[in-house]
Amino acid sequence: MECLIGKSTEQLEQLAASMQQPALRGRQLARWMYRRGVSSFDEMTDLPKSLRATLTNSFAVRAATVVGVTRSDDEVTKFALRFPGLGYAECVRMPSRGRTAICVSTQIGCPVGCAFCASGQSGFHGNLTAGHIVEQVLTALDSSDDDDIAQASVNVVYMGMGEPFLNYEHTVRSIRLLRTEMGIGARSITVSTIGLPKRIRQFAEDEPQVNLAISLHAPTDKLRRQLIPRRCCPVRELLAAVRDYIALTNRRVSFEYVLIAGLNDGRSDARRVGELLRDMLCHVNVIPYNATGTDFRAPMRQRCAAFCELLRQEGVNATLRASRGRGAEAACGQLRARMEAEDRAESAEDA
Ligand code: SAH
Ligand code: SF4
Repeated sequence: MECLIGKSTEQLEQLAASMQQPALRGRQLARWMYRRGVSSFDEMTDLPKSLRATLTNSFAVRAATVVGVTRSDDEVTKFALRFPGLGYAECVRMPSRGRTAICVSTQIGCPVGCAFCASGQSGFHGNLTAGHIVEQVLTALDSSDDDDIAQASVNVVYMGMGEPFLNYEHTVRSIRLLRTEMGIGARSITVSTIGLPKRIRQFAEDEPQVNLAISLHAPTDKLRRQLIPRRCCPVRELLAAVRDYIALTNRRVSFEYVLIAGLNDGRSDARRVGELLRDMLCHVNVIPYNATGTDFRAPMRQRCAAFCELLRQEGVNATLRASRGRGAEAACGQLRARMEAEDRAESAEDA
């Protein structure tokens, strides 16, 4: 059955017209789906009953079935969604400094195959559509008390499964829906990417107000390629694209650096990162590797702190993220880590 999530107000107005209904009905549909977050036509009480029945027979509001909800001690909630014909995706909701952060997936699995990442190691099973991405946000907000989602203080981070820039069109379209249909501000949205230069430049044109996070992880091509086996471009080209992005948007970029013991956590690595980023409008989030069943290990806490301190001495803004969400088979370590890193970056920005 066709589902309506993912359609813009304009498309819903056209749908109404095709059903011999006034355009107003399309706008009502959009308000119920994106602002009130309802998931059945029956709840749309200002639509005529006969129209609700017709819609129920022909369409669904959302695509996925929520097949699991797990909550950890510290209020981190993970939702597992099954998209028919595609597979499982997950999103995570966590409170963060008086706001709600929601982490969404853009693909099922990931084609990049990063050596340290659970999504990368699980293979690639398909792209999610813009509607699927927005649906994750709506699902995570289902228990929210706000009458209008635009009033809820929500941050959306594209840090779940998948590489957003390998599903670029749907990623950008989902951002437009979050902004225009749900009323979420561009600056409350962050996209994390391994960094495809062409897409970074395009993103500066398409969504200059959305926050951009680049997964760097290593200062040299050799090491970076070892960690990011596919779609990994030379560091020089990556940083040239980031410089263009900053020149175009005047926005500060975040770099993410997952710290792995004995691999990329040396003093010389920190110095090299310093040399690369020193003069850039950026912030580095240093994130100790979260165990995902590989042979990698996170460095000792002290060593992580020392790496971060070295970056600062090199003149680069850097924050070591605090560990949170333990006890957590309940929540995906990876997603949690990224949201926390984002949180930290914001704190630093506010300071
Ligand atoms: N594909 C995008 C976005 C999803 S991954 C990207 O790679 O940026 C989001 C972040 O989680 C990335 O910075 C990634 O490096 C990080 N990550 C993946 N696995 C991790 C792990 N086991 N421990 C800590 N961070 C991890
Ligand atoms: Fe894909 Fe990001 Fe995981 Fe790498 S870290 S495999 S790019 S999801």
